[in-house]
Formats: sequence, C-alpha cells, structure tokens
Amino acid sequence: MSVKRKGQSKVTIFPDWCKGCGICAAFCPAKVMELNDQGKAVVIREEECINCGFCELHCPDFAIMVQPKVDDEIPAVCRALLKKASLPDAGKDEESIKEKG
Ligand code: SF4
Ligand code: SF4
Repeated sequence: MSVKRKGQSKVTIFPDWCKGCGICAAFCPAKVMELNDQGKAVVIREEECINCGFCELHCPDFAIMVQPKVDDEIPAVCRALLKKASLPDAGKDEESIKEKG
C-alpha cells in the first residue's frame, strides 16, 4: 500500500512508451503532469506528488513509474559516511606524516 506523503516521490515518464492519452495529466490530483507540444506526458510539478499511485496504475502503456526519492530514504549519518568514503584523503595522511618527519 502506498504512503500518501507530498514531495517524497520521484515520478518518471518513459516517453517512448507514452502514447499521449492524457489520463495521467487529467486525473492526477496534484496536477504533476501535463502533455507537451509533442503530445507526450511530462512531469512539471514532481514536488506536489502525493504518491497516490493513480497514474502508475492507470497508464495504459505502463509508461509511468512512481518511486520513493532514494536520497530521502538514506539516513543523514549514512549520507555523511558515504560522502567521506568517496573523498580520496588517504594521501593527505601520508603527507602529514612526511611533514612531521
Ligand atoms: S497515462 Fe501513460 S500513455 Fe497516457 S499520457 Fe500519461 S504517460 Fe502517456
Ligand atoms: S502518484 Fe498520484 S499524485 Fe503522484 S503523479 Fe501519480 S497521480 Fe499524481
């Protein structure tokens, strides 16, 4: 069952699969999508998505995916550790050892 929380979802539309029926844009309660000038659905207000799941369920071409925003699911402490792990500061320690002699 989906959790209805505004701004917690990433909405992806696959344009190759979208046939432009407009169902998603017409029935999204948060007006997250619209049809562009090529007749394809595009996400314009993702931050308003309440994760109701309507679009994903009713798109006849399975062209929409609604997922949790991954970054929000990672606790802040883990994000900090990941950031630190990606910084190549091992060489920095060697330099400080050399400086100290
Ligand atoms: S419901 Fe699906 S096929 Fe219809 S406009 Fe939206 S994304 Fe495209
Ligand atoms: S999940 Fe609901 S609120 Fe979010 S884009 Fe789809 S229809 Fe709109």
